[in-house]
Order: sequence, then C-alpha cells, then structure tokens
Amino acid sequence: MDFKLTPEQSQMRQLVRTFARDVIAPVAAEIDRTDRFPRDLIRQMGELGLMGLPVPEVYGGVGADYLSYILAIEEISYASAAVGVILAVHTSVGTFPILYFGNEAQREKYLPKLTSGEWVAAFALTEPDAGSDASAIRTRAVRDGDAYVVNGSKVFITNASDADLFCVFAVTDPRRGSRGMTAFLVERGTPGLRVGRKLEKMGLNGSGTCELTFEDMRVPIENRLGQEGEGFSIAMRLLDGGRIGIAAQALGIARAAFDAANQYVRGRRQFGQEVFKFQGVQFMLADMATRIEASRWLVYHAAQMRQEGQACTREASMAKLFATDTAMQVTTDAVQLFGGYGYVKEYPVERYMRDAKVTQIYEGTNQIQRIVIARHLRERG
Ligand SMILES: Cc1cc2nc3c(=O)[nH]c(=O)nc-3n(C[C@H](O)[C@H](O)[C@H](O)COP(=O)(O)OP(=O)(O)OC[C@H]3O[C@@H](n4cnc5c(N)ncnc54)[C@H](O)[C@@H]3O)c2cc1C
Repeated sequence: MDFKLTPEQSQMRQLVRTFARDVIAPVAAEIDRTDRFPRDLIRQMGELGLMGLPVPEVYGGVGADYLSYILAIEEISYASAAVGVILAVHTSVGTFPILYFGNEAQREKYLPKLTSGEWVAAFALTEPDAGSDASAIRTRAVRDGDAYVVNGSKVFITNASDADLFCVFAVTDPRRGSRGMTAFLVERGTPGLRVGRKLEKMGLNGSGTCELTFEDMRVPIENRLGQEGEGFSIAMRLLDGGRIGIAAQALGIARAAFDAANQYVRGRRQFGQEVFKFQGVQFMLADMATRIEASRWLVYHAAQMRQEGQACTREASMAKLFATDTAMQVTTDAVQLFGGYGYVKEYPVERYMRDAKVTQIYEGTNQIQRIVIARHLRERG
C-alpha cells in the first residue's frame, strides 16, 4: 500500500493549502465568534473549483479524483472545521445524490449551480425523534397528482441557514419500513418549506445548522430522486462517502491542533528550559503524532477504495471512528500543552477542541460506527 500522491493530487493539495492558509485561516476565529455563514468564502471556493471538485467537467465540476476531494476537505478543515463541513456536506451528501441517483434532467438543472458555488446544498435526514435510527423518520410525503405533499420536520441540518437546495427524506409508504422511504430535491423558497431557528452550538459555528419544517409543501414529481422506496438505500450509500469526508475533516482539525501545540511548547519556557524538553511533554506529542499518522492512513485508504469502486462501508466507518476519536484526543491534549493559554480564546486550540467533538457525533455517532464495523467483521478479518 502506498499513498504517494500523483503530481495532480499534490498540486491540488498545495493550491487548497495556500487558499486555506491565506484566505480562510485569517477569518476562522471571527466566523466562530459571530456564527456567520461564510458565503463570501464559498463564492471564492466556487471560483477555484472546490465546490465541485469530484464532479465531472460536463456538469461544471473539475473532474478530480475522490482522494483529491478528501485532501481538500482535510486542508480546509485545518484552517476552519466549519468551512470544512460546509464543503463536505455540500459535496458528499448534497451534490453526490444528484450525480449518482438523479436523472439527466436533474443533473443538468442543478449540478452546474452547485459546482460553481452559486448554490449551496444540504442533506435533511435527521428528525427530532429519529437520529441514529434513521429508518424511524416520520416526515410524510403523499402523492397528489403530479406532486407530493410533504409534512414533517427535520433537525440539525448543516448549511440549512443558507442552502438553496435540500435533499429531503420522507416516508411514502409507512407499511414498508425503511423500504418505504423516498428522497426529494427541494428548492429554497418552495411554499410550505420553513427554515427554522439556527441552533446555537458548542462549536462548528458558521455552518448554519437549522431546523426545517414542511407544511403541506408541494414537491413536483420531477424532483423525486430515484424511485419511490429507494430513499433509505440512497441515504446509506451516501453516508459511506460522507463518513470518509468527516474523517478527513477530523484529520485536518487534529493536524492543526498538533502543529499549534508543537510550536507552542518550543517557545514556552518553564523551570529554566523549553517546555518541549520535558520528556512527559515529548511523550504526549509522540502519541499525538502517531495517532494522526494512523488516521491519515485509514482515511486515505478508505478514500482510495471508494475511488476504485470497491465496497468500503467497513473502512469508511473505521476511518471515521479512529480519526474523529483522534481529533478529540489530540485537541484535548493540545489545550493541555498550552496550559492556561489553551483555555482562552486568544489561541485557536480551544476552538479546535470544541469543533472536534461533533465529529464523533454526526454522520453516525461513533457507537453506530462500531455497530457497522462489527457487522462487517467477517469480511476481511
Ligand atoms: C452540528 C450537527 C450537524 C448535523 N448535520 C446534519 C445534517 O446535515 N443532516 C442530517 O440529516 N443530520 C445532521 N446531524 C444529525 C446527526 O447525524 C445526529 O445528531 C446523529 O446521527 C445522532 O442522532 P441523535 O442526535 O438523534 O442521537 P441519538 O440517536 O438519540 O443517540 C443518543 C445516544 O445514544 C447512542 N445510541 C443510539 N443508538 C445506539 C445503539 N444502537 N447502540 C449504542 N448506542 C446507541 C448514540 O451513539 C448517542 O450516544 C447533525 C448533528 C449535529 C450535532
């Protein structure tokens, strides 16, 4: 196994790294403090091709490979985990549903807008009473002539404050359980769609997380994604890729925290010497670096498998589980290594720690990842 990047992948990573360092990093703390959705950055990312990196050129994308996209999420999350998740949700579970499960008319209508960054996409599966058990959603879609009438609500929807297009999951046949779920493309402004309050979060501020309600919302039949009853399977297939994206986000956060701590302990002096010289501190840094390296291999490996079209449910869950637990551990240790300064907002490490926490929760909690991995234990040992 070798993760030597191709010249194209290295070039793309350098481009994103420079953009993240020069344009995103300087405003990351302000986005966190004000919780503003960074539409200006999204426009610039659109101009660079980042909002449609792994989408074929015929739909306005760059046509880059999947690993390039994962590297981009990692680099952007290094600067701002909020901008990282906006991109990850927009692409993995906002744009891919149309690319993979949409018909040609839907692709032609929506993909150029999404890949250019003119429109932002969101993914609306979770409901107040259906999170880990997504098959228990209650939002109902009833066929009425050439449309569906949708009633229900969603919660925790990333990008929702500013999204232009929502991939919404609803029950079309309650007798069939998860096989009675259907996916729909819902444009902002559709009568009956209400974007509710923005949730105040521990971290990841700026990612526009809102509730949604649907009151007799009419969705034209041409906006149904795939066939009736395919919704749950579409959601689960999207989440395999989505989880690799979240793992890459966690990797970016962990790397940022490690670099900050590694630099800080070399400048800080206590007991007449650099804090770095204490072996207890070096052991912490060694563990942090090792976990990050292991995460990187799991994430890139899962991405490579997906790129090659191999089944990677198990590897995606392993990458998500390990990289996000690593992000939590590494960011917590980074705060510790900064001492009291780690706990104040003048330094970025407390933000990294707050941002890391949610990576263990969304796109399937880490308990759910363990369930998925356990289900696939027979597959390759
Ligand atoms: C900031 C943020 C952004 C999000 N963005 C989106 C989005 O864009 N779109 C979207 O659809 N959703 C989104 N979510 C929702 C997210 O995916 C859910 O919160 C997550 O899947 C967990 O669901 P829940 O919150 O209902 O927790 P619950 O399912 O109620 O879980 C509560 C606890 O029970 C544990 N648990 C549940 N079942 C089991 C089990 N079988 N075995 C062991 N433990 C179990 C869980 O791991 C957790 O610790 C977002 C959430 C957050 C916080």
